[in-house]
Order: sequence, then structure tokens, then C-alpha cells
Amino acid sequence: MAESGFEYDFIIIGSGLFGSVCARELTDNGFKCLVLEKRNHIGGNCYTENIEGINVHKYGPHIFHTNSKRIWDYVNKYAAFNRFTYMPVANFKGDLFNLPFNMNTFYQLWKVKTPQEAQDKIQHQISKLDNKNLKNLEDYAINSVGHDVYEKLIKGYTEKQWGRDARDLPTSIIKRLPVRFTFDNNYFNDAYQGIPIGGYTKLIKALLTGIEIRRNVDYFLNKNQWNALGNKTIFTGKIDEYFDFKLGHLEYRSLLFETVRLEVKNFQGNAVINYTEKDVPYNRIIEHKHFEFGQQPFTIITKEYPKEWKSGNDAYYPINDVKNMRIYKKYKEMAKHENRTIFGGRLAEYKYYNMDQVIASALKSVTNILSANV
Ligand code: UDP
Repeated sequence: MAESGFEYDFIIIGSGLFGSVCARELTDNGFKCLVLEKRNHIGGNCYTENIEGINVHKYGPHIFHTNSKRIWDYVNKYAAFNRFTYMPVANFKGDLFNLPFNMNTFYQLWKVKTPQEAQDKIQHQISKLDNKNLKNLEDYAINSVGHDVYEKLIKGYTEKQWGRDARDLPTSIIKRLPVRFTFDNNYFNDAYQGIPIGGYTKLIKALLTGIEIRRNVDYFLNKNQWNALGNKTIFTGKIDEYFDFKLGHLEYRSLLFETVRLEVKNFQGNAVINYTEKDVPYNRIIEHKHFEFGQQPFTIITKEYPKEWKSGNDAYYPINDVKNMRIYKKYKEMAKHENRTIFGGRLAEYKYYNMDQVIASALKSVTNILSANV
């Protein structure tokens, strides 16, 4: 029996980062938690499966990065991190370019050797732009890196990724990528970066140590029964599903993965290569061993194909365009009146969160819970 008089103080739906951090913090504060997981494993989409010593990022490449010392110290309490730095390469029609957009990319594109030459080249392409109204992804991207970078490295990848015309997408998506006039291929500007040694599952396992977890449980099949077991529910799934799609369906992007083992030591020489032309159906090839500098005589690679989310698929990305945000805001309003449920994470907050932001959001929710309980 828990402190609240119920069997559990908290029923936590989903064992991804949001659910696992809440479970850890609440347990450490004396609350009894039960974690329900729909899949047959913990970890949400950052789950890694160890296949003969290679930690395979089953739901796409996850690179932990943060600018917050507090969050970096937090995750390092539960796992040791390696020195991995994300430096993906783009393949456009057989030519290779460094990402994010930096002096190496500009040299590969135009043979310019100085920041001034690169800036002049971009400026020349921008000045031909009629439309200075930078409200959509296409206009914003062309205005910051010029036509060539946009056509070769952004347009195809973006339209495959989102299944929409780049003119119909919000600028926030492309603002994730740095543009630099230095020879620096680090994809992120954050102060801290790495991969948990031994994979993300190890990190999640450490967070969930000593906490009851039930796998293969679809909360929605017995929602009321599960809720009745606990004083409060923490819900990390799709917010529209929680409310039975009453206000309409939110759209998500999904992914399909094709994973194969190859009898070569080193297939592509990098953890991730993006395929930025529209006609290649996948967006990237992941070679998992390179996340942890693996030396196995074989390798495992995954081709990642973007697709629209349909019932029965996994949802990966919220589509934060005007139409969906209008619907989400109404669900958020409904959520405010749901006193016994706390909503959090990428799907329940309908936010394109990075892992560190999910953790920060979970810690904030726990602080709110604790202060309400005093
Ligand atoms: N992007 C692009 N070309 C690339 C990589 C990314 O145009 O080679 C754009 C694309 O619109 C993508 C966005 O940048 O959706 C954000 O990319 P990020 O790598 O942050 O996406 P993640 O894989 O982390 O979801």
C-alpha cells in the first residue's frame, strides 16, 4: 500500500526518458510507482539492443547533447558517457558534404577557402531572392545558407522527412541546425555531448532500478482499471489518443527501419550518412558500431525511411505546423482540467524535444508534484 492509500502513488505510462526520470525521482522521494510499458522492452525510442556487442539504436540515432551542466551531471549519475561527437556526412547524388553547414561544406560546394568568400557567395545567392518574408522553412533556409545548400542538402531530406512541401513547414525545424563559418563539423553547439557506454538501455535500466515495471501492457485496453490502482497517472503517450481523439487527430511522422548485418568491418566510416536527394527513399544510413568506436569484424547498418504515422505504427515526430498546433492547444486545455493526470514527453506535450529537454521537463514536473504535495 502506498502513502496515498492507493496501491501505488503513481501509475506511469511509458518507460521512455520522461517516464523513467519521473519514476526515479518520485521513488527517491518516497512514492510508490508502477511503470506500464506497451512494448516488450523499456527505454522508449532511445532503446538500444545489444546485438553481438554492437548497441543498435533500434528507433533511430540518439546522440545525447546538452548545454545544461545540471542535466549533464544528472545523466552521468546513471551512466558513463563516451566522447562521441556527432559529425554526420551528407551524400547528394554520390558527392559527400560535411554537416552541419560549415566551412568544410562551403569548400566542398564552391571551393571557397575563407569565411569572407563563403559569406560573399551566400550573400550573392540571397540577394537574388525576391521573397524576404521568412515565415516558412524554405524561405528561411535559402536566406541563411543560399540556394545551393538548400537544393542539395536541405530540400530533399526535409521533404522526405516531413512528407510535406518545405514551404508548408515551420522554420523552427531548420533552426535546429547550426550554420558556421569555421571548419567545425560538430553537429551541435552544446557544451556536453556523448553516448552512454553500453547503450541507452543501460541508462534507462539504471534509472528504473528497484521500480516495478510491467511490459507488454496496453494502458488503453484497461485505462480505468489501471488508473484506479494509483493516486495519480503520469502519461507519456500521444495526447490525442489519451482523449480518445475527441478533438480530432494530431499528425505525427513515423519511421521504418531496415537493419542488416554485413560481413565487413567498416561499411561507411561514419555513424550516420544522410541521403539528401529526393529520389533516394531513405533519409539516412546508420552504422551503429561507430557510436561506441566498435572494432568488431562485422557491422550492423540500418536504413531509415520516413513515413506518415498511421494507427498501429510508432509515432516519432510531432508535426508542429499551424493546423496541428491549433488542435494541440485545445487538447492542452483539456489536459489542464485532468487533475489526476500529468502529461509529459515528446508525444504528450507534442513537442520536438531533444533528450536533455525531455529530462528537464520531467524534473520540472516532479518539482511541481512535490511542491503541490507539501
Ligand atoms: N536537415 C536537412 N538536411 C540534413 C539534415 C537535417 O535539411 O542533412 C533538416 C531537416 O528538415 C530535419 C531538420 O534539419 O528535419 C532537423 O534535423 P535534425 O538532425 O535536428 O533531426 P533529428 O534527426 O534530430 O530529428
